[in-house]
Amino acid sequence: MQSLSDTVICFDLDDTLCKEIVFLKSGYRKIAELIARRYNLRYDEVYVRMLDWYHKGENAFSNVNDYYGLDNPIEDYLNVYRYHHPDICLDNNVYNTLKCLKDKGANLGIISDGRSITQRNKIEALRLDTFFDNDNIIISEEFGSEKPALENYRFFMTKYPNAESFIYVADNPKKDFIAPNQLGWKTVCLLDDGNNIHQQLFESVEQRFLPHFKIKKIEELKNIVK
Ligand SMILES: [Mg+2]
Repeated sequence: MQSLSDTVICFDLDDTLCKEIVFLKSGYRKIAELIARRYNLRYDEVYVRMLDWYHKGENAFSNVNDYYGLDNPIEDYLNVYRYHHPDICLDNNVYNTLKCLKDKGANLGIISDGRSITQRNKIEALRLDTFFDNDNIIISEEFGSEKPALENYRFFMTKYPNAESFIYVADNPKKDFIAPNQLGWKTVCLLDDGNNIHQQLFESVEQRFLPHFKIKKIEELKNIVK
C-alpha cells in the first residue's frame, strides 16, 4: 500500500462531507416537532408542508406561521435550526473514502465556513473525530476568517511544512478553490448530484476560481491522490 504520509487532504463540510439538505431536513423535523407539540398539530403534516415550501423556494418558516395562524417568532425557528443536534450520519461512501485515505497515512483536515456550534454539532453527529484531529478542523467563526481567505488554507502549510502535496476537496466554485489554487494546492470539486443547496456555476466564474478536477463521487478521490 502506497503511503500518503506526505499528503495533506482537506475537505469542506457542507455538500462535500455531508449533504446540506440532510441537515436541513433534520432541522425541519425538530421545528415541526416543536410546533406539533405546542399547538397540538400533526407532526408529519407540518414537516411535509415545510419541506414542500422549501422545495418551491418559499420561506417555510413564515409560511408555517401564516398557514396555521401561529405567532412563533421566526427567530425561534432559526435558533432551533442552527443549534439543534442533528440526526444525520456519514454516507457509507464518504466513510469508506476517509478510512482508506487515513489508513494510507494521509493527513486529513476540514476547512469549513459557518457558525461554530452548528458545524461542531454536525461534526459530532457525523463522528468525524474518527478521521480528523480536533486541531485540524478550521471553522470560520472560530478561526476569524472565511473562505476564500488564504489564512484558512495556509494554516495547514504551516502545520505540515514538509508535506509534498496539499489537496482541497469542496463543492462551491464561487469561494472554495481560488485560494488553494493560488497557494499551489490541487483542487477537487465534488459535482452536485442534484441535491446541493448552492448551485455550481462554473461558467460564471473566472478560470482562477475553477477546480483542477471534478468528480461525481467522493470515491473517485482515491484515483487523484494516489
Ligand atoms: Mg460546501
